[in-house]
Amino acid sequence: MPELPEVETLKRGLEKEAVGRKILSVEIVNQKVLKGQSEVEFRDRAVGKCIVGADRRGKYLFLPLAVNCLSSPSFTLCLHLNMRGCLRLVTEEAPLEKYGVLRLVLEEGKALHFEDMWGWGECRVAVTGESLPKLGEEPLEPDWDRGEFARLLSTRRVAIKTVLLDQKIVAGVGNIYADEALFRAQLAPTRVAATLTVSERERLAESIWQTLTEAVAQGGTRGDYVDLYGQAGRYLPQVYDREGAACPRCTAPLKKIKLGGRGTTFCPVCQN
Ligand SMILES: [Zn+2]
Repeated sequence: MPELPEVETLKRGLEKEAVGRKILSVEIVNQKVLKGQSEVEFRDRAVGKCIVGADRRGKYLFLPLAVNCLSSPSFTLCLHLNMRGCLRLVTEEAPLEKYGVLRLVLEEGKALHFEDMWGWGECRVAVTGESLPKLGEEPLEPDWDRGEFARLLSTRRVAIKTVLLDQKIVAGVGNIYADEALFRAQLAPTRVAATLTVSERERLAESIWQTLTEAVAQGGTRGDYVDLYGQAGRYLPQVYDREGAACPRCTAPLKKIKLGGRGTTFCPVCQN
């Protein structure tokens, strides 16, 4: 958490609330979030700049910054929430929460708070055009090359679940939606990716697309995750984190195993 649907929900919130506003000041409580960037450099690049857009790539959020709202961006604010990060829109007067690591005060009495319980998140300002992390294709973009996705699967001799978590294969899928997409495709997470038939690979691509599309429409998964306004998502996982519950398809008890160090829940009867 948060994965593609949750980050996409945040992006849409930022488009509405932050784009077109200037960053008036910055408060950095935990430097760890800057991932090596100096506080001085962060401030120099961010303060006084206007947020001119909001983009998402995989689980990353990018906010292009320009000297004024009509100029082209010279810097990009890069955000990654990692495991427990959270971004909230509050009023300027609101104090930073217990796990608050960074705060951006915006025009018109608004502020963006970055909270991070585990301190693994990232927030830094890069020069626009600077090389960003290498990520695979976006599964919700109309030009997602499913044939290339299938080809990549056929070259991997590891468990299919592990392949889905690799951000270079498909960007934005994490533990929740990997379990959910495999359930939808009726594929066991332990299957070696290279052994999937052509039709199984096609079914998996379609399941990833359907699962993510549904989750985006519902503002992400219900749980610890909240959107920019503190609202929880409405997507209810069918198998993820539901060990022992009845399979929604065949009623057999769902099983949880460890796969590549990640908890993985699936139906041992109807996922093959
Ligand atoms: Zn089942």
